[in-house]
Amino acid sequence: MIHVSNLTKIYGEKVQVPALHDVSFVIEDGQFVGLMGRSGSGKSTLLHQLGLLDIPSSGSLIINNVDMGTLTDSEKTEFRLAELGYVFQEYGLIAEFSALENVYFPAMALDKEEGGKERAVKLLEYVGLINRLHHYPNEMSGGEQQRVAIARALINDPKIIFADEPTANLDSVGTELVLSIFKKLNKELKKTIVMVTHEPSDKNILDRVIVLKDGVIIEDTLVLGRRGKKVLRSKD
Ligand code: ADP
Ligand code: MG
Repeated sequence: MIHVSNLTKIYGEKVQVPALHDVSFVIEDGQFVGLMGRSGSGKSTLLHQLGLLDIPSSGSLIINNVDMGTLTDSEKTEFRLAELGYVFQEYGLIAEFSALENVYFPAMALDKEEGGKERAVKLLEYVGLINRLHHYPNEMSGGEQQRVAIARALINDPKIIFADEPTANLDSVGTELVLSIFKKLNKELKKTIVMVTHEPSDKNILDRVIVLKDGVIIEDTLVLGRRGKKVLRSKD
């Protein structure tokens, strides 16, 4: 579970840029949440705070019952590696590493090398890339690279996956494959997923849509499939 209370982020010191203002919400285990809103509305900023990639200006964040405010930097790093997975728009693969090496690299960072290679092979198979194990990033399409990045995010078996516009650089075939994998991660592996997205069609796989504007939540809606939707919050 992710429990966010009064989260605020202001960038800069002399010139202050407020990017998130007093945001509060709870994300239940296994929920697939879409973060939407115009460019500059604070989506990436929010994801960075939730993913422990940045430090909020104020507010509290409790993930899986651990209060992030109580952890030292090294405890946070360990928590991040063990419990959270990340997928970014630009894939972020290491050019000199093969697909297989890219995937098991985070296992080494956590001293979980034992069986790391075998797990990496299984994960690459899970994302449909068993025939790309020894390919380098520049030998793969964007969609394939993003699927390697998804396998990498799973190597330490995190409960929560954060994705920031993971399909923004992909063609329609790559987009569809990547989204179908996120859907599987949520439905089969019960991962909690928070994904920044612009695509309204993604609403088919989302359980919930949170819309940001100018650093505040203006809409929060549970998608209930054919039963319609339930508005949790709306500022209209
Ligand atoms: P989104 O992901 O929704 O496009 P961001 O979270 O990237 O929005 O940005 C929210 C606001 O914060 C914008 O006004 C942006 O210019 C500003 N911002 C983002 N990152 C930084 C930074 N590192 N330093 C200063 N301002 C930033
Ligand atoms: Mg962004």
